[in-house]
Amino acid sequence: MENNLETTTTTSETITCTKNTLKIRRRRRMASNGTVCQDELVTKGVSESGDGSKIDHSKAREGYLEWSEYFLAIAFLSAQRSKDPNTQVGACIVNNEKKIVGIGYNGMPNGCDDAKMPWARSTVTDNQLETKYPYVCHAEMNAILNKNSADVKDCTMYVALFPCNECAKLIIQSGIKEVIFVSDKHHDRIPMIASRRLLDMAGIKYRQYTPKQQRIVIDFNAVDGPEATTNNNCPDVPNKINH
Ligand SMILES: [Zn+2]
Repeated sequence: MENNLETTTTTSETITCTKNTLKIRRRRRMASNGTVCQDELVTKGVSESGDGSKIDHSKAREGYLEWSEYFLAIAFLSAQRSKDPNTQVGACIVNNEKKIVGIGYNGMPNGCDDAKMPWARSTVTDNQLETKYPYVCHAEMNAILNKNSADVKDCTMYVALFPCNECAKLIIQSGIKEVIFVSDKHHDRIPMIASRRLLDMAGIKYRQYTPKQQRIVIDFNAVDGPEATTNNNCPDVPNKINH
């Protein structure tokens, strides 16, 4: 009988965090004397992303990575494996079925100890042998040589930097048909001029790609759902939210 005296109210709250805004409903049962019998959090089907757009959790997700951004992101992530203190470059080779067949980043050849190899770009004595250049393998070379298919014919290479002339030779000889790159910062250097000459003559397409989003964040907490990420930023949100 005591329950008959209870009242149930539902309130909506908006919790704003650094990454997103989560709208929650709080269902509260109160006794006639004003004490709270039960306080329950209920999520709603629509939440708001960081840019203010609505997310409908009952429909296919929008805002997912497009193919080009996905493959470039993999190239950039691979670059983080590089030991080069000055330049980190990654490359990702994709076949016509949008399957990745090779990934690479710049580094010293296998068996050559990173700790013993020179990484400098120049020396005071102008000794080329004490710079990285005669030794380092570029990301494009490693991606081609790391291939997990019989060949990379007719594949597309996604790479952070426009390839140098040495890599252009490998790209041409391996049968890659297109190169998609992000940065062309060395455009006027001789290796790049020679590279364009080679690629043009061989009929290899190349184009600069500007990602729609300048930054992609990998959040290891995201696998536990948006509330897990939210909780990290908003410690006052209760851990248990019913779905
Ligand atoms: Zn190169």
